[in-house]
Amino acid sequence: ALTAGIVGLPNVGKSTLFNAITKASVEAANYPFATIDPNVGVVEVPDKRLSRLAEIVDPKRIVPTTFEFTDIAGIVKGASEGEGLGNKFLANIREVDAIVHVVRSFDDDNVTHVSNKVSPADDIETINLELTLADLESISKRYDRVSKQARSGDKEAAAELAVFDKIKPALEEGDPVRTLEFDEEEQKIVNSLFLLTSKPVLYVANVGEEDMADPTINPHYQTIKAIADAEGAEVVGISAEIEEELSALDDEERDMFLEDLGASEPGLNRLIRRSYDLLNLGTFFTAGVQEVRAWTFVKGMKAPQAAGVIHTDFERGFIRAETISYEDYDQYNGEKGARDAGRMRQEGKDYVVQDGDVMLFRFNV
Ligand code: GDP
Repeated sequence: ALTAGIVGLPNVGKSTLFNAITKASVEAANYPFATIDPNVGVVEVPDKRLSRLAEIVDPKRIVPTTFEFTDIAGIVKGASEGEGLGNKFLANIREVDAIVHVVRSFDDDNVTHVSNKVSPADDIETINLELTLADLESISKRYDRVSKQARSGDKEAAAELAVFDKIKPALEEGDPVRTLEFDEEEQKIVNSLFLLTSKPVLYVANVGEEDMADPTINPHYQTIKAIADAEGAEVVGISAEIEEELSALDDEERDMFLEDLGASEPGLNRLIRRSYDLLNLGTFFTAGVQEVRAWTFVKGMKAPQAAGVIHTDFERGFIRAETISYEDYDQYNGEKGARDAGRMRQEGKDYVVQDGDVMLFRFNV
């Protein structure tokens, strides 16, 4: 499963956020395949479409799809110099698919800030510097060998070298690799390098309780937003402390608390959805009387691969997928209505699955 790693300076609210995620986590019993790792929180992906499908079908079971967050603890400053924990910190980041970077945006004199002032721009720069330095080091290590191979006529090495020559000056300026543009061939090479700054980033502005209803009015949020825009990243504002309280409540209490706060949903829901989007993930549904269920696919996947998300047999023996868009399923009140209205499509092996598709796979066993 794809996972987003939570990073940030000390005392910015990472543990508080991760606690909120853990409390909101799925019951391992219902997800036997989920990793049992104390540093991983598996949450349901909130999706209103799922309850609407369930209302139409009235199934025995409703199963949302899930998403994983990984807690990446460890020191940050000096990490690229490779001292003990720092190395581990970078190695842990290398393993995740996206970075959720928590930035302190609340003012509270009782909570010490590592550099004694709340300054999102400085905090972001501190972490990004470690990551760019680590990438620079990975590239420098390979540079001489690759350039020698390129000189002796190795075409692949020449292509790699050209990518290095594009990346290196950017990193030297402190610019993350994700800010650069690559063509398809270059992108393949970049992907093979497993760089830290080529991963997608979502900044979390951890605002105070007073800004929970509309985090965008917080001036620190505005600063982070400007940085995110400039480097092709995203930002979401939440209050980690409030989220931790919210995730400990039952549904009814939670709704009351949210109303008091003037918020329509927990910020965690927004964080989950944005992380999901960041990884280019989409949801398709299966809807039967036994089970109405949401499944995660990577956008661009074709129907047989999506079938393979459910079971490898479905992919191997794929014949076709009876497909109804969520909008049609909703409008025509289910499969029968949609079919009668001519809105059910027979899709073959080249069909590119769309977010919201309700699918029934036909396959050979
Ligand atoms: P970490 O070191 O990044 O994991 O930070 P923690 O989650 O341990 O938080 C550091 C301190 O900040 C704790 O005392 C938290 O209670 C406090 N804190 C976290 N989020 C908020 C917040 O939204 N508002 C306020 N006022 N304090 C917070």
